[in-house]
Amino acid sequence: MSKPNWACTTCGMLSSRRYSVKRHIMNLHGGNGLEVSFVDYMQGRLTGIYNQNNAKQQQQQQSSS
Ligand SMILES: [Zn+2]
Repeated sequence: MSKPNWACTTCGMLSSRRYSVKRHIMNLHGGNGLEVSFVDYMQGRLTGIYNQNNAKQQQQQQSSS
């Protein structure tokens, strides 16, 4: 099975492997995010918990290090 089973709650990145999403969060979001199952993520999107539209705007704000 190679369909995406895990999702990044910060930007909506999808992966079939949980550790890939976890590493993605550490590298791209400085650990500021959660890896959740694809089902949970889709439910969160539908209920407005996760907002993918913010992702691109947030990337430009990541300049403090
Ligand atoms: Zn992400």
